[in-house]
Amino acid sequence: MIIQSKCVYFEERLQPKQIEIRKDEIVGVYPYGLFKADVDYDDLIVMPGLCDVHNHGYNGCESNEATKKWLKEWSAYLPSEGVTATLASISSFPKQGLLKALKNIGEYIDHDNKKGAHILGVYEEGPFICSGKERGAQSLDFQIIPSKKVIDEFNDACNGHLIYVMIAPEMLNGNYDVIDYCIKKGMKVALGHTGASFDICKEAIEHGAISFTHTYNGMKGLHHREPGVVGAAMYFDHCYAECICDGIHVNKYAANILAKAKGKDKFILITDSVNIKGLKPGVYEFEEKGRTTTVTEEGVAYITGTNTLAGSCHRLNHILDYAIHEAGIDFVTAMNAVTINPMKMLGINDRGLIKEGYKADLAVFDDSFNNKATYIDGKLFEAK
Ligand SMILES: [Zn+2]
Repeated sequence: MIIQSKCVYFEERLQPKQIEIRKDEIVGVYPYGLFKADVDYDDLIVMPGLCDVHNHGYNGCESNEATKKWLKEWSAYLPSEGVTATLASISSFPKQGLLKALKNIGEYIDHDNKKGAHILGVYEEGPFICSGKERGAQSLDFQIIPSKKVIDEFNDACNGHLIYVMIAPEMLNGNYDVIDYCIKKGMKVALGHTGASFDICKEAIEHGAISFTHTYNGMKGLHHREPGVVGAAMYFDHCYAECICDGIHVNKYAANILAKAKGKDKFILITDSVNIKGLKPGVYEFEEKGRTTTVTEEGVAYITGTNTLAGSCHRLNHILDYAIHEAGIDFVTAMNAVTINPMKMLGINDRGLIKEGYKADLAVFDDSFNNKATYIDGKLFEAK
């Protein structure tokens, strides 16, 4: 099959190109009009399918409580954002519940994830949080100090699909064996929900931490005498930085500064969307999380009665649109931040580009990033 458009995101530019797909793979990229095309998207943007590495759930449920039925629905929903890959992100929650959900996620990935967005693995955003205020909305009741044993326990529960682990490094008290262990196991380590100093972050990075969880949110800010976690995210060129670029979690100029500091290869846009995505405004009781959440008319979620954000209801295509058109982030930086950068951070090297030999996961958008079509494994995805 050949699809074409005058705006294919190829080699970091929108170019008139056609893409030949065979089975689930891109087998060639040619000049627009060279061969007879099966589908012509005219001047719509055709880009690699979006990857949302930090994504908890939607429609009243989260990965913390994932059932195989819900995972199937979630995978089938995500292509409507142009998302073709995500991580099932878990957070602080009763351990037995997490282990049960992880089992379902592992089995789903191994046996059932045949349609819809690919769930590439598990992202453990909690329960390895700090004890201080930077833990944000995550409950201290379920906090765990990470150890090799607990990493194994979680990873075994999901059949070895734990691939991205967030740690608050100050909780390790200078013993970084658990980071060494994660790296040895091929996992990627992020620093987040942390009030660590710059120096502690530096030590964790020297042990292999490679990313920062929703930079600015849930972390010690940059001060000129103590650069903090934000300073470390900006300083270490080889590290990736996630950002919820929505103008609410992060001011748009602050997002722009971070994008400039990280450049086109290390910035990652995320939604951090939670169970409230897809729900109407109102007050929701989430007993298992130990909190009540209010969803406002603007679609923002707060812990009821406070101004602590309780995650987002964002769609990644809207975040991308906001990053480019409101935050003024460089086009290539923003485009890479939802495609190739998250894949490179995770060490996945056959997704995230329109290039010969890459998987044919594609998203088609208008100028405002409204989704017009999504291809997964070379096939047009149609929600039933
Ligand atoms: Zn999160």
